[in-house]
Amino acid sequence: MTLDLTRSVAPAVRATSGRPAELSTPYEVWQGLSSAVVERVADRWERTSRAYASGRMEHYFSAEFLMGRALLNNLSNLGLVDQAKEAVGAIGQDLSTVLEQEPDAALGNGGLGRLAACFLDSCATLDLPVAGYGILYRYGLFKQLFDNGFQTEHPDSWMEEGYPFVIRREEAQRRVHFADMDVRAIPYDMPITGYGTQNVNTLRLWKAEPIEEFDYDAFNSQRFTDAIVERERAMDISRVLYPNDTTYEGKVLRVRQQYFFVSASLQTIIDTYVAEHGEDLSGFAEFNAVQLNDTHPVLAIPELMRLLMDVHGLGWESAWDVVSRTFAYTNHTVLSEALEKWDVSIFERLFPRILEIVREIDRRFRLDMAERGIDQGTTDYMAPIAGDTVRMAWIACYASYSINGVAALHTEIIKRETLKEWHAIWPERFNNKTNGVTPRRWLKQCNPRLAALLDEVMGSDQWVTDLSVLAEATDKADDAVLEKLAAIKRENKRDFAAWIAEREGIEIDPDAIFDVQIKRLHEYKRQLLNALYILDLYFRIKEDPTLEVPKRVFVFGAKAAPGYYRAKGVIKLINTIAALVNDDADVAGRIKVVFVHNYNVSPAEHIIPAADVSEQISTAGKEASGTSNMKFMMNGALTLGTLDGANVEILDAVGEDNAYIFGAKEEELPQLRASYDPAQVAASTPGLQRVLDALTDGTLDDNGSGWFADLRRSLLEASHEPADVYYVLGDFAAYRETKDAMAADYADQKAWQKKAWINITQSGRFSSDRTIRDYADEVWKLTATPIPATAA
Ligand SMILES: *Cc1c(COP(=O)(O)O)cnc(C)c1O
Repeated sequence: MTLDLTRSVAPAVRATSGRPAELSTPYEVWQGLSSAVVERVADRWERTSRAYASGRMEHYFSAEFLMGRALLNNLSNLGLVDQAKEAVGAIGQDLSTVLEQEPDAALGNGGLGRLAACFLDSCATLDLPVAGYGILYRYGLFKQLFDNGFQTEHPDSWMEEGYPFVIRREEAQRRVHFADMDVRAIPYDMPITGYGTQNVNTLRLWKAEPIEEFDYDAFNSQRFTDAIVERERAMDISRVLYPNDTTYEGKVLRVRQQYFFVSASLQTIIDTYVAEHGEDLSGFAEFNAVQLNDTHPVLAIPELMRLLMDVHGLGWESAWDVVSRTFAYTNHTVLSEALEKWDVSIFERLFPRILEIVREIDRRFRLDMAERGIDQGTTDYMAPIAGDTVRMAWIACYASYSINGVAALHTEIIKRETLKEWHAIWPERFNNKTNGVTPRRWLKQCNPRLAALLDEVMGSDQWVTDLSVLAEATDKADDAVLEKLAAIKRENKRDFAAWIAEREGIEIDPDAIFDVQIKRLHEYKRQLLNALYILDLYFRIKEDPTLEVPKRVFVFGAKAAPGYYRAKGVIKLINTIAALVNDDADVAGRIKVVFVHNYNVSPAEHIIPAADVSEQISTAGKEASGTSNMKFMMNGALTLGTLDGANVEILDAVGEDNAYIFGAKEEELPQLRASYDPAQVAASTPGLQRVLDALTDGTLDDNGSGWFADLRRSLLEASHEPADVYYVLGDFAAYRETKDAMAADYADQKAWQKKAWINITQSGRFSSDRTIRDYADEVWKLTATPIPATAA
């Protein structure tokens, strides 16, 4: 029943390196050990796939899976960490060095992709028959470097040297047809182990390849370039995550990617159904449900219609009946730019048949609305096609049996605003599924010291698979526990300081307050508000160098979308503030600013266990949920945040004495905005004008980019958009007051640790196990299917 690794590591390392294991590099040991782990789970994996095939399954379609590293996660899930340590030790190496060799599988952008990864972990742990489907991007999200404080982007060739956790399944390939080319979709399957279970689920990532390896005749006629052009055109489909879509050709490529992976996935799911249940597809929805993670996979709706009608002979009504019982749609944002719309001409060019089907959905939708007595204006607004654009979110809303938001507040906002027309007609489709994160990766693995304390206090490790049990310990925080908690945080901070010194070349003091904001760079997330605070604090100290302020380290990690110049301006600003502050003798180490380059899952695992303060400061109403807020809470950082997304539920869980909440509330903002004059706020808030002026008066140098002036203008001057859309200046005074108070509170370590303990022990409802149970019970109607244990 238990797996044994000890004897398989050295041979696997030899097989990858071609040398005695003792002479292999740590990277080769990583490869060998990883292969050995995959080899060990092969039988369970096969048995799980077979057990699932005949029953009801959920298929999770997502353009992003931000998996991070796999080896430690698998070792930990399988209970093999100690064996691995020993086996690696026996060949003269150290497991933690080996683990650090692994590249991050960064097949995602941020929260949405990481959510998909946490969900897979929970589904496997709960023995739920769920498979993930996405794209094997050859280059994940770009690698970020800083050049003189400016973000530069570089290819992330994460699997160029081979990646042991995906297995190419040549025999399971499918063909995907486009009007201008046919391509092969080759599945690369990743085993998804669960914690303490035999089940091994599957993440299937598709790679695009040409039908013909290359044009042999062209090559032999010395037309070498021609011979490979077609090949490269096919491979382009799975080359990069989110190709630049500012050009028309970029948009075509994105739509092609989306169709590519949903078509290949649906073909596979249908083939499995036919093999198990025969050719009559009318019962498809009894055995299959598909969760659409945002609008990226929504082409699956017309594609399933096509497959059911054109390949499997169903009529429109029966096909639509199946489709409308198959799909469930998750909305991830209220920002309108994320509700994808595509030119009809792209559909015309890539798949005229899909366009025909979408037009027919549109025609029938309009009849349906007329029958319901919906007025023309509303019907036009909601229709799948408007003039020459196709609206993916509206197709999803019309065809899905379930529509969910990702935190209570967010779901209320989509019902009330973003999707209100849909809610008015189909209120029963709407439900909330507050996001969660896996406590395996985000607590047990990344914070082993805290995990050990929880084992000790709880008397078992049951919390690892039932995080809600920690609530029983909320009142057990005696002095001994709080002192241990403080000691753990101190050690984590020391480790983090060493990691930062090596990675970023900056010395930080573990006794300082570690105040952290790590997330994609976006104006609504308001890294700028944090930056303005730091600059103001700096000026306060310059004005009075004897000012007694708690020592602070401000940590940032964030990538800006390559074409999002204002976000890049904020990165340059924070790096420029860091250069100004870090070595200023007047500041004498009281403020340090660290921008961790190339933020990703594995840096997050180093940062979060060391954090004291979790910055969750989005403009109220804009952050759908957030999940880093949950990771921080689990690791005992206190939230400094607005009443937004899941912060609302965190506050509810811990109570207002144990979180620091500030700023305008979502329901107050419309009225506040109506009479909002940012220039007047700047002039009347002490310190604020000084900070804004520093952006352009020569204090901070943007190297002639003009970006700092743009930031200042965006806050103060209305142009094509109103000034300060995200209410940065409006919330500044409240933010400063709350953040100052929070820093002062840090001095009372006992009270602080008590709050941290309450956060940790009340984090149970933010486990993705809870989220997945809710999806399984309420949306997917799915029951656990544990595979029987065998001797192997
Ligand atoms: C959790 C996570 C996110 C999401 O962070 P938010 O603060 O919720 O936006 C983004 N990127 C990585 C690497 C993460 O681990």
